[in-house]
Amino acid sequence: MPHAAAIPLAAVTDPADSRRTLDACFLGPYGENDTLLERLVVEFLRDHVHWRRNFHPEDPPAIPTRAAQHPDYLAFEARMRRELHQLSAALKRSVPFHSPRYIGHMVSDLLLPGLAAQILTLPYNPNNISSDAAPVTLQLEMQVGLQLARMFGWPDDPARPDCAFGHLTSGGTLANYQGLRLALAVKAFPVALRAAAVPDLELPDDDWQAFNLSPSAGIALSSRWRQWLSAQSSAERARWSGRVQTQRIEQLGLVDFFARHRALCVPLVLAPITAHYSWSKGLKMLGLGRDQLRLLPTQGMRLDADALESTLEQCLRQRQPVLAAVAVLGTTEYGTIDPVDAVVGARERAATQDFGFSVHVDAAWGGYLTTLFRNPDGSLRALDEVRQGFAAFPQPEVHAAFAALAEVDSVTVDPHKLGYLPYGAGAFVCRDQRAMPLLAEAADYVFGDGEASDYAARYRQLGQLVPEGSKSGAMAAAVYVSHRVLPLDHAGFGMLPRQTVLAAEAFLARAQRFALEMAQAAGVVVPFAPDSNLVCLALNPRGNRTLSHANAFVRRLHDELRCDPGQPLQLKQFFASVTTLRRDVVGETDMRRILGALGIDPDGRTEGEDADRLVILRHTLMNPYLVDHENGISYIDRYFEHLQARLHALLAETAQGRPQCA
Ligand SMILES: *Cc1c(COP(=O)(O)O)cnc(C)c1O
Repeated sequence: MPHAAAIPLAAVTDPADSRRTLDACFLGPYGENDTLLERLVVEFLRDHVHWRRNFHPEDPPAIPTRAAQHPDYLAFEARMRRELHQLSAALKRSVPFHSPRYIGHMVSDLLLPGLAAQILTLPYNPNNISSDAAPVTLQLEMQVGLQLARMFGWPDDPARPDCAFGHLTSGGTLANYQGLRLALAVKAFPVALRAAAVPDLELPDDDWQAFNLSPSAGIALSSRWRQWLSAQSSAERARWSGRVQTQRIEQLGLVDFFARHRALCVPLVLAPITAHYSWSKGLKMLGLGRDQLRLLPTQGMRLDADALESTLEQCLRQRQPVLAAVAVLGTTEYGTIDPVDAVVGARERAATQDFGFSVHVDAAWGGYLTTLFRNPDGSLRALDEVRQGFAAFPQPEVHAAFAALAEVDSVTVDPHKLGYLPYGAGAFVCRDQRAMPLLAEAADYVFGDGEASDYAARYRQLGQLVPEGSKSGAMAAAVYVSHRVLPLDHAGFGMLPRQTVLAAEAFLARAQRFALEMAQAAGVVVPFAPDSNLVCLALNPRGNRTLSHANAFVRRLHDELRCDPGQPLQLKQFFASVTTLRRDVVGETDMRRILGALGIDPDGRTEGEDADRLVILRHTLMNPYLVDHENGISYIDRYFEHLQARLHALLAETAQGRPQCA
């Protein structure tokens, strides 16, 4: 584990120039920018009203001014106000995500440009299902797709036939689901073309080959098919299109499809054991079944590339197709970065053995860290350049993982996580737009290839391609404006992830000091080197050798660090979250190392659900104001001082023989 030297407070944020920009980015922990937000909201609300009035100024007001004096009007207004006040009062019990005292889950303050754009757009109420309902914001959603594509190093020129294609979803869960849907469509389509016996396309020799084309070969074939189709007369086009449709997996369902193709079976999805539970949901939704999700072991909480290789070899030997390999860029529980480069390498090697599968990167959490690796011209920054100013970030493996994003097939990224935007904003981006028509709901969906006008046309019927129906145009506006104000490169948006990584490095250094300070009283261990901005802490009272007691102790500690709706918010000093290190996730060797360092007997027996897991504290360091330079306060220091006081208090309780767990 790299041991960073203690970082002085002054080094924990960027030079003063970017700090001054940061001052204007958020409403702020104290609501410092209230006047700015208020002015923006009022200004654009008035603007909206002018728009209404200017639509047909000759139409007189339908609601007379005197209406506001009528008892029914007043009664309605009173009811509305009462309910709004009650709502507002109840919301005071919300979790203070905006505060630098909140280092729990993956959420923080909201970026003003995005928040203002969303509030501004809401009364227009665009529906990004189709251009009939959202002539403006659908264009913005297309631009968001291109902005994200550029960040990942993909073609972002709609005039290019292989331009990337991205859209927003309700969150990372649906973006991951979209990744699975698309991978399945690309994989199964060549089988349908063969079954329909489409002429002149150089189809694969047999079902096995057809089902196991590499994604790029599969996409090229579907593209050739669309070109062939467009060259037919309209009657022939309808006939062939219908004929292929009857053979598609989306038409037949899994049961009939695999009954017709006995050489094939339901494909597996390979993902690290640290993968988010949305993957299990996705396999259920798609009807593939959870059993088809094969969870692979990790090394240092990163996907074990050797295990991936051997699983692939075994699958190939057993003629078990693989739908996709998933790499996680920023695991939800630990913030670790899987070796995307190794997963891409495995895909390339397998393709030479006619064993194709897609690579999807789940970057719901870590996606925006990519901005640190991009120059404003879109090129990749070298390891040494990215490193400047950091103690240890990025490890060479982490840099290699981000560099390899350019070669994966699709990515999930959540603007509502490290993009600092309101909830309801996930994004799915696929590297080559030519795959997308395979998801279309209607048979006569725009299928032209290679024309920039086709590209825009796909967005005009976005509802054809996404799992949702009606979807928020205001969200698209928020993401777009946010990316425009802070371009997705290290000089623009990168300012924000830089803060978070610096804060995580300061946190790590402080945690190591804390471990020394607490040495007499408790074992304190950072269980594995953090790859990004999430830092975990394992704790055990001195003298205790059992896992169950250590877990009860940390749970008790966490009870004071979590939201409690029964208590006034102000009683809470800090918020942190908790997670577990499971033996099967960490691996036996690392588990023994961590337990040993804590002073817990690795061979000790513990009954119940605690038998195979260690409960640890988890800290998400994404608040931009963790270090308050204005007042010389480090909330990181204060957190550890708080932790120290609580630890001593809990230990004293324990020593007096009071119960330590609820
Ligand atoms: C948060 C997260 C998800 C799920 O995203 P939602 O926006 O909550 O649906 C998926 N994968 C990873 C790695 C995540 O961190």
